Amino acid sequence: MVLKPYSFSKLSTYKSCPRKFYYSYIIKAPKEEKDMTALLKGRAVHSILEVFPKKSSHKLADKYQIEVDKFINSDLGKTYLLPNRISEYRFGIDSNLEPCSYNDKSCLFRGIIDCIVIIDNRLYLVDYKTGKLKEPRWQEYDQLMFYSIYFFQKYNKIEHIDISYLYVEHDSENKITLERKYLDRYVSDLTKIINELEFDSSFDKNKTKLCDWCEYKEYCDLN
Ligand code: SF4
Repeated sequence: MVLKPYSFSKLSTYKSCPRKFYYSYIIKAPKEEKDMTALLKGRAVHSILEVFPKKSSHKLADKYQIEVDKFINSDLGKTYLLPNRISEYRFGIDSNLEPCSYNDKSCLFRGIIDCIVIIDNRLYLVDYKTGKLKEPRWQEYDQLMFYSIYFFQKYNKIEHIDISYLYVEHDSENKITLERKYLDRYVSDLTKIINELEFDSSFDKNKTKLCDWCEYKEYCDLN
């Protein structure tokens, strides 16, 4: 069973419910059809922001362009959508937690960052979000925190990395600063979940109210 390289999506599926991970990534069970509107909108918005100021060729770009333009012209849009930004930055981390390329065979964990940008000599990692705005107290930062490991390892002089979840339709962000002095903790959070997953043999169900929205609930006896 080849599960590597891990993505944040794989790990968060496992964390939310090991059985869901089993259905999705191990036996690759067919999913229940879901309403794809939100997913397609998210892809179109990401595409517009990725190529800005060029025009996106995404088939739904025209439908969402006006909405995204509001963000592009907002203070937050002007802050982050700088000419020096890099969109869709691909990276990998190998089993020694050393930086590697996204397609490296030794890759343990990898990801694609929506936007990285230097502002006033500080590195920002940005994830674009569409849909409901999360209150700051409910925002989870694990994804960009795991991604920061690559940059802390690759650039020894970086002491701080700012990470931001940008809620495009709400012109709002949830943002924190990560510090090198806590790098061991970021690494330990990442390796803990990978180790749990790799040593799991039962992939137990995690029954919660979220089961109602699970694409695999038809396979689960939830009684
Ligand atoms: S229905 Fe619930 S328990 Fe079953 S796989 Fe989905 S989230 Fe897990």
